[in-house]
Amino acid sequence: MSHGISDDAVEFAVCGSCLQVLAYDDRSGLDDDEERAVLSGLLDLHTTYEQVIPDGTELGFSHLRCDCCGALPGDRFRVLCFGEKCDG
Ligand SMILES: [Zn+2]
Repeated sequence: MSHGISDDAVEFAVCGSCLQVLAYDDRSGLDDDEERAVLSGLLDLHTTYEQVIPDGTELGFSHLRCDCCGALPGDRFRVLCFGEKCDG
């Protein structure tokens, strides 16, 4: 089923904090710095893409920083983004 949005999903590997906030709007357990980084990262995704889907598939441990908030290496979860906006 297509709703006119590009099929080209862009995959991001985000930390548990980002997934938690994106999927459940749950910021418990985050300190001020983490919350700021997560919200800023998510805002970036929402600014760039029409749809930001917290797929949530476990991607396992990554040695790279979180694609969203820049958190240190750790477990990562998949977020799918669709419909990159042209402006900006
Ligand atoms: Zn993150």
